[in-house]
Amino acid sequence: MFNAISHNVLQLPVSEKKTRYQSSSIFELASTFGLEDLHFKQDLATGLQAIVAIHNTSRGPALGGTRCMSYATESAAIVDVIRLAQGMSYKSAFAHMPYGGGKAVLIRPHQILNRDAYFESFGKFLNTLNGRFITAVDVGTGVDDMDRIAHCSPFVKCTSNHRGDPSGDTAKGVLNGIKAAIKVCLQHDDLHDVRIAIQGVGKVGTFLAELLHQEGAKLIVSDINHKSAEYCAQLFGAEIVSPEQIYSVHCDVFSPCALGGSLNANTMHLINARIICGSANNQLASISVGDSLHQKQIFLVPDYVVNVGGLIHIVIESNAEAQTKVSEIYDAVIDIYRRSQKNNIPSQRIANQMVEQILSQAKPHGNNPCYVRGLT
Ligand code: NAD
Repeated sequence: MFNAISHNVLQLPVSEKKTRYQSSSIFELASTFGLEDLHFKQDLATGLQAIVAIHNTSRGPALGGTRCMSYATESAAIVDVIRLAQGMSYKSAFAHMPYGGGKAVLIRPHQILNRDAYFESFGKFLNTLNGRFITAVDVGTGVDDMDRIAHCSPFVKCTSNHRGDPSGDTAKGVLNGIKAAIKVCLQHDDLHDVRIAIQGVGKVGTFLAELLHQEGAKLIVSDINHKSAEYCAQLFGAEIVSPEQIYSVHCDVFSPCALGGSLNANTMHLINARIICGSANNQLASISVGDSLHQKQIFLVPDYVVNVGGLIHIVIESNAEAQTKVSEIYDAVIDIYRRSQKNNIPSQRIANQMVEQILSQAKPHGNNPCYVRGLT
């Protein structure tokens, strides 16, 4: 299944039992997630430790963000990058984009001494993948970093010369998803006085808070960075609660906009909302958590259906066309809700079935070098 492993991390530590995946070998993980290949790069001079997961290129080159953050273990980083890459394949296929899915994780060192050299080193590494993976911003990276990569590599989007930060369009997509869910679940035509709890007010969460505030929603926010939460309190009248309290806030919509896995066995019983709709990738720790939420009659709007606005922003050059595509998220969410209700199947499973059908019809591209020509 792997096309390349260029590093010596061949077996995840057996002692790691934190999650089902972290006790699997890399090849077991690859099989479980249907991964094409996984690439590692270490550069001692800059402190770069990069992992690129290419999940599926049957619809086109793998497109996905570069995440730069610290991880408790290498295994946790590997599981994260693989799951995120799969999410990108599903996101792209669901939106009928001519791209596959991939992701990069940079295990953040204690200190990045020279950020230019660090990201330029990563850019040189991207070149060795010959365009099979194209990257963009994600958690822990910004437009400046994409500019740094662009000094050395053509395989990067979201630079200051090309479309910039996608977070505003991601937030607009989530807004459309929330509006659709409110319509079908609560029969509300607008967001006036609708209570929405946002977990994580970083780039997307803050844009979303602003849009929701403009629509008359009542906001409750939490962030481990208190300054971010404070900003939303001052500008949008948001109530601040602690990161622990946000799950059980009495609200109409719980909106996870921080990191993945926040919906898990410990938190799912705390949710006090009729709808879950946010930007975070891989919100569900496992598909069974989605099943439990469905049983509790909580409508989980699948993450990759509503957070596709950033991808649309990157891929579609015309702003007007991109906005039209982002607005289509509204109907997609209503469609998933109706299918879920009609067949009594959890919403995440409905979306996955739709995507897996699309992916099964795609022709394998493999290492087709035309990616290099087409996207530089
Ligand atoms: P970001 O890093 O700017 O924001 C994340 C915020 O979450 C930060 O402010 C951080 O302090 C906060 N946070 C982290 N852990 C938390 C916790 N336990 N409780 C509360 N807050 C916590 O990232 P972003 O670009 O806004 O992305 C947010 C999520 O949306 C990520 O999962 C990302 O993968 C996903 N996403 C982003 C985009 C985009 O366009 N930026 C597109 C698609 C998906």
